[in-house]
Amino acid sequence: MNIKTVFVLFISIAFMSCTKSIVFNEELHKNNFHRQKVGKSSRDLLACDKYGALKIEVQYMPGFKPDEEAILNLKNFLYDHLHKPDGITIEMKQIKASKDSILSLNDIVAIETASRKKFTTAKEIAVYVLYTNGLFIDDKMLGYAYLNTSVVVFGKNVWENSNAYKKPGRSHLETKILQHEIGHLLGLVNVDAPPQAKGKKDRGKHCSNKQCLMYHLIDTEAPPGVLFKKELPKLGKECLQDLVAYGGQ
Ligand SMILES: [Zn+2]
Ligand SMILES: [Zn+2]
Repeated sequence: MNIKTVFVLFISIAFMSCTKSIVFNEELHKNNFHRQKVGKSSRDLLACDKYGALKIEVQYMPGFKPDEEAILNLKNFLYDHLHKPDGITIEMKQIKASKDSILSLNDIVAIETASRKKFTTAKEIAVYVLYTNGLFIDDKMLGYAYLNTSVVVFGKNVWENSNAYKKPGRSHLETKILQHEIGHLLGLVNVDAPPQAKGKKDRGKHCSNKQCLMYHLIDTEAPPGVLFKKELPKLGKECLQDLVAYGGQ
């Protein structure tokens, strides 16, 4: 084997291994990117330096189709606080019902693993929202952000706590749940990045400001009648400051 052959061989091996490693990384990215802790993708979701677009895949079980107005409110909330110049799209699809009326976190992750179709690609970050037909093991829970790009809404609980006497309208309640849980994915409160605003040390994962969207309780009481219709909660000053510090607006 002369030197020229060795050189050509070396080049081709280097090139092949390089290509191979790119393919491998893409696979790794696809398989593991959405398996991180809540808050880990706050910057990727808020800023546009890595991902210029956001896709939200909403899957729901029969009888629990998400409220159109709540989905629209979520989209507007995201356009208000994220930098996604290439757009935010939301896709909805029905999936088969779960036989279990009470779901554990493992059950929810198993449903996502079996059903989720949209994953983060080179330019677009993907978020998964699941509406279940059952309750969580903690049966007071309306929604839960459980992984860096995954949120669950407990359909049965939402239906039972809305559109009834002294209860809020479904669009109102669902809007609050969706925005609150996705707020956790955006890093609120103190979920991943260090707190930027003052006086937040012991707020845990929730905000101490009762008027803020990230307060720990989601109000399911509403005065009867349209005259007293409650305003949708917004992000308070401290949470807004955090979003800006993490790359949002
Ligand atoms: Zn919360
Ligand atoms: Zn707040």
